[in-house]
Amino acid sequence: MVHFVGAGPGAPDLITRRGAALLQTADCIIYAGSLVNPALLGLAGPDCAIYNSAEMTLEQVLAVMKENEAAHKTTVRLHTGDPCLYGAIREQMDALDAMGIAYDDTPGVSSFCGAAAALNAEYTLPGVSQTVIITRMEGRTPVPEGERLAALAAHGATMVIFLSIGLIDRVQDALLQGAYTAATPAAVVYKATWPEQKIVHCTVGTLVESTRAAGITKTALIVVGDFLAAQYDRSKLYDPAFTTEFRRGTDR
Ligand code: SAH
Repeated sequence: MVHFVGAGPGAPDLITRRGAALLQTADCIIYAGSLVNPALLGLAGPDCAIYNSAEMTLEQVLAVMKENEAAHKTTVRLHTGDPCLYGAIREQMDALDAMGIAYDDTPGVSSFCGAAAALNAEYTLPGVSQTVIITRMEGRTPVPEGERLAALAAHGATMVIFLSIGLIDRVQDALLQGAYTAATPAAVVYKATWPEQKIVHCTVGTLVESTRAAGITKTALIVVGDFLAAQYDRSKLYDPAFTTEFRRGTDR
């Protein structure tokens, strides 16, 4: 059996208990070495075989899974954050289906949640934005026409941009073509939840210069929107006037 596991954003104690238990009992771990904290490999048993997928192709990863399955061994495929975002798990799952190998998926804390925690921020503030757009700038990996950053920026919603810090010039240009202005707050979060975490507060207009000044070139998220500003409405849910299924408000 193959277990896909979300490693969390970096801090080793942010993996789920289920994910940690799977690492402890795995016969083999294939981890995404470019981003997964190697400290997690310390959970592996002494006889566990460990592979770094950063140095492997999809075919090589599948070959290791197939070999383990034939020997009735358990493989953990350890992806950074949550495997469902930019994890390239679908192609692995489809191949495993074709080979008749069973698998399951254990979620993890995505880096976009790690970044919000680092910022002490709420992405969905009443009166500001009730939508989070998770996206990336097109680079060597194309993005569908209708999802170009400039088009998504038209919504002015909270935006979290993955995999794009190396294209920060183009990100800034695209954001300014939408509903954001040069004064819209933004932040760059480098290695959220790792000891070397860095946070840069800036605006859309100063994204490029602030990122350069901080020397951030990889492993970062760009977050944009007025959720980083001071103004918002208080929640209805906790408003004394508001009646809910669990609490009678003063409006009744
Ligand atoms: N599945 C992962 C994302 C993998 S794509 C998740 O859920 O987080 C890799 C990109 O994620 C990086 O280029 C960077 O943009 C972002 N990333 C991953 N870990 C990060 C972290 N600790 N801090 C900031 N960004 C991170």
